[in-house]
Amino acid sequence: MVRQREQIEKDEERRLAPWACLSRDSLGRLHAEAPHSYRTAFQRDRDRVLHSTAFRRLQYKTQVFVYHEGDHFRSRLTHTLEVAQIARTIARALGVNEDLTEAIVLAHDLGHTPFGHSGQQALHRLLSKQGGFEHNRQSLRIVDFLELRSNRYRGLNLTYETRVGLLKHGSEFPRYAHPLPLPELRTWPSVEAQIANLADEIAYHNHDIDDGLRSSLLEWDALSDLVLWRRALNHVRKLEDDKPPGVRPRVIATLIDILASDLIETSAARLRSHAIGSTLEVQEAPEPMVTFSPEMSEGTHELAQFLHENLYRHHLVVRMAAKAERILQDLWTAYTQDPRQLPPQVLREGQAEGHERAIADYLAGMTDRFAMDEHRKLFDPHAHV
Ligand code: MG
Repeated sequence: MVRQREQIEKDEERRLAPWACLSRDSLGRLHAEAPHSYRTAFQRDRDRVLHSTAFRRLQYKTQVFVYHEGDHFRSRLTHTLEVAQIARTIARALGVNEDLTEAIVLAHDLGHTPFGHSGQQALHRLLSKQGGFEHNRQSLRIVDFLELRSNRYRGLNLTYETRVGLLKHGSEFPRYAHPLPLPELRTWPSVEAQIANLADEIAYHNHDIDDGLRSSLLEWDALSDLVLWRRALNHVRKLEDDKPPGVRPRVIATLIDILASDLIETSAARLRSHAIGSTLEVQEAPEPMVTFSPEMSEGTHELAQFLHENLYRHHLVVRMAAKAERILQDLWTAYTQDPRQLPPQVLREGQAEGHERAIADYLAGMTDRFAMDEHRKLFDPHAHV
């Protein structure tokens, strides 16, 4: 017995909660396409993102640590996969569309520059006269415009629900032109998009602690000041000893579990107390439906503060960030002073939209190692061009 798309759509209707986005009710794509025999609209979105060039580049883009510092640190690709795992658990527990959640998560970091947040800051500064740079907006630009998979249209031609899930409040202002109509934002995004957003936070808090400890930039004992860390550590101690090598991964796994479970329970209670009966009611509710409890919000805030002070402002991280900014600044200067140094396809794009925006797309699309190689090629007299 083969399960056709119609069957899967019926299953969704039966299985999912009233606040879930159903594939059958999707507002559709900008360019009309025939439906698939076996996959729903959101499954196709997820698959298109997974097969995109920008997705493969996530492997060599980093958030905090540059790619060559060690093979065990997170890249944006492994970060994205960790977010997807956490988001799927939450989505399934809250009875929403896992395929849509996953499509949004897999695409959520596509717009990030090389070298993490320092790269984004550099690009925003360099483009100040052209409307700046914003990574959520860039993710949408990639799936709507920069990826090429057809001669009929540009972009991945994703559904409205996935596209709007990538656009966050603040990233929709027309600081720079978007080649397609921007999806309209309501007060709040769908439950699926809200889950993607907070699963992102759970993932990076935890893996940044993990990578921070592995790299010895963070000290084990310093973490014991944190309420959530102590809670996770005490939980582990009840079940096993607190000795290396098992204790670090055990505490991290427990912390993820504590946060995800709190998010599930708090959000379920909210959806019930607001008597949410449709996706529209989610988007027009007086407050977001997916949240941590006040206690857990406080704990995550403390965690974020700790990481900010001890990891993101660690002098070795600051040195790397400054180097990253110099690399992007140098590349920008070289390309804008003489755009003939750019590959022909970037030059062609520049004729349509202006060289600055085409250069920004080119720089933002670079992986860490590509940007470093390119810098060497342009500035080291002994390097091959
Ligand atoms: Mg992320």
